Amino acid sequence: MKLTVPHMGNCYIAFEALLQEMGHEVILPPTCSKKTLSLGTKYSPETICLPMKINVGNYIEAIQLGAEGIVMIGGSGPCRLGYFAQVQKEILKDLGLDVELIVLEPAREGLKNLKDQILRLAQPKGIGSLWRGLRLAWEKQKAVELLENAACYVRPREKQLGITSRVLQASLANIRQANSIASLRRICREEQARILDLANHSPVQPLKVGLIGEIYTILESFTNLNLEERLGHLGVQVTREVSVLRWVRDHIFLSPFASYRIKRLVKQTDGYLNSWVGGHGLESVASTIQLAKADYNGIVHIMPFTCMPEIIAQSVLTKVSADLQIPILFLIVDEHTGEAGYQTRLEAFVDLLQRKQKEFQHEKATSLFGC
Ligand code: SF4
Repeated sequence: MKLTVPHMGNCYIAFEALLQEMGHEVILPPTCSKKTLSLGTKYSPETICLPMKINVGNYIEAIQLGAEGIVMIGGSGPCRLGYFAQVQKEILKDLGLDVELIVLEPAREGLKNLKDQILRLAQPKGIGSLWRGLRLAWEKQKAVELLENAACYVRPREKQLGITSRVLQASLANIRQANSIASLRRICREEQARILDLANHSPVQPLKVGLIGEIYTILESFTNLNLEERLGHLGVQVTREVSVLRWVRDHIFLSPFASYRIKRLVKQTDGYLNSWVGGHGLESVASTIQLAKADYNGIVHIMPFTCMPEIIAQSVLTKVSADLQIPILFLIVDEHTGEAGYQTRLEAFVDLLQRKQKEFQHEKATSLFGC
């Protein structure tokens, strides 16, 4: 069957490898664009969060290219992801787009449903192909995140402005082409060295900022208006606190230990939040506290307009910011977000961090030399 998956950053590389290994033809939607967003906005409920609108745009564009089925992740808890599949199914039906939806619901929603959907996907080449596909997909996702992290390190130090993002795109294309784990590991080592080689070796350390918030907006550069790149070009080294590998580890491999993980996160929030609020809300608060203790210069919190888990996190983070004296920039994105205002807010935030750092260095020098 010709299958498609929605975009969320570069994780289409791993999904494509998994589905191809299981014998499916993969029709990827075109990269997210204004056209994708306007299609999604036109056919989705007005107040639904941005990720769903872009998903709908992705599906329509992929179906126009010939996709016959859609593979997507389900969800549960106090977050709208849990009913994305049902709403999207109705939207596509109303548009007369006849496609199959294969929804991989989390294991805690019932193992039988998940098992049936996985067996359905593995049908063309048998269950062995699932194992091979999962291994290749896991390795590809590892390689993608390694290279993206290398790019975040290099951007504020790059020898030529903008070159890191261009090289990263070429490196990711090579990762996508790799068809065995051995070749993938070799390519990954070479590409990582190529990206690190773009950095200047100056003793001046750039500002360090942690990126937290809703997973889709963090990973999909179209929705966050190339946030990592913009910050990197302003001289900031970004650390992403959310990733696909972490999500898979926590929500699939460690799913039987979910209550233990939640208890551990609640403990890390030092009493600011005492229960799971859905999405990555709890993680956002726990990560901010950890990064503040690790002497990060600031935090950028990003979420789509009306995202419930992150609205709860945001209300708590204001107090965390004041108590731990760590500046936090709150960014809320939707289909109306304008580039100019967004850039101005980033520049003002970086300016504030630079001034704060200079004041700190001055105080340190004064206390050391008594002048
Ligand atoms: S985490 Fe927020 S933006 Fe993401 S699906 Fe849930 S409610 Fe929507």
